[in-house]
Amino acid sequence: MNRQIVLAARPEGMARLSDFKVVETATPALKEGEVLFRNILFSIDPYQRNLMGNGSSEWPTIGIGDPMGGPTVGIVEASNNAAFAVGDHVQSWSGWQTHAVSDGTDLRKLDPAAAPLSTALGPLGLTGFTAWYGTTKVHTFKPGGTFVVTGAAGAVGSTAAQLMKLRGHRVVGVAGGPDKIAFLENELGIDAAIDYKAVDFKEQVVHVLPDGIDAFFENVGGPIFPVLMEHFNPHAKMVVCGTISDCSDAELPQGTNYLPRLITLIHYRFVDIKAFATPYVMDTFPAFLAEMTPLVTNGKIKYREEFIDGFDKLPATLLTLFNGTHSGKKLIVKA
Ligand code: NAP
Repeated sequence: MNRQIVLAARPEGMARLSDFKVVETATPALKEGEVLFRNILFSIDPYQRNLMGNGSSEWPTIGIGDPMGGPTVGIVEASNNAAFAVGDHVQSWSGWQTHAVSDGTDLRKLDPAAAPLSTALGPLGLTGFTAWYGTTKVHTFKPGGTFVVTGAAGAVGSTAAQLMKLRGHRVVGVAGGPDKIAFLENELGIDAAIDYKAVDFKEQVVHVLPDGIDAFFENVGGPIFPVLMEHFNPHAKMVVCGTISDCSDAELPQGTNYLPRLITLIHYRFVDIKAFATPYVMDTFPAFLAEMTPLVTNGKIKYREEFIDGFDKLPATLLTLFNGTHSGKKLIVKA
């Protein structure tokens, strides 16, 4: 049987466990050219809340009754495709189901001897690709200036911070809480970290950004941004990767409207703002792997992961990304 975790209801605000349900279906028989694999590792990612609908995202959602989408690592259990043998490890976008069938075109074969399998969901998977693409392909950032990244202790943010440090930028990370600040400053060795949850957040911003912001990587959005945007230098370049703080909000937030001020800043300081979405730029994935694989396997790019045991823990694990209990490590569920 194929066990799936499907969308039972579109969330009202923050997603809840009752928005999911477990169903069992028969595993389909294999046709010529197809591969059956069993998923053993599942990636937990903020955009999975976007896929559920009723949030700020304007991109396509999954349907009610569909399994949650997302990257997985699986083991081939049966194959009618000469390119895949029983026992091969594959990375796919087959989502929250124990088994899946593919014609092989959407599978990436993995070599467990070359890098730990979990890296195919983290620094050598879509997470790392997001950081790499956002720091490499969206803008040309001149080395030497100050690069600020929000969600800096998270999976994408910590990779973007390290890449930009390796490329010669002064890197400042923004994250929530003393543990994440210590991780950024002591373990990643970035130049400075700002705790947006501290009472003196605004003073910290002024203190660590005496020369302003030349490059900005936005993972979070929400009330942190209006504080930071005041520090944009002329011709600052901003890449919008995500806005995790508002992904559960179907309505506009209440409070001060900072949009006129942002328009003014863009006008007078020539701020260049661009966004990207990985599904539209997958043709650059091979170039990403070529640059990132040695950096990750040689330890130049560090990563943190947390494994949660049990397929049925997928929904509860996803919710921790948004309820303030997430440590910042890449979350991977093991089945
Ligand atoms: P992540 O940063 O590890 O996500 C969890 C972290 O988000 C939490 O630890 C928390 O860190 C922060 N957070 C959650 N709610 C918040 C809130 N209300 N205000 C401020 N911070 C909050 O996740 P990730 O996988 O690395 O993804 C980072 C961003 O990249 C997300 O916005 C995601 O949607 C985006 N993304 C974009 C693409 C693309 O194609 N453009 C692809 C993948 C991911 P703190 O405790 O430090 O606040």
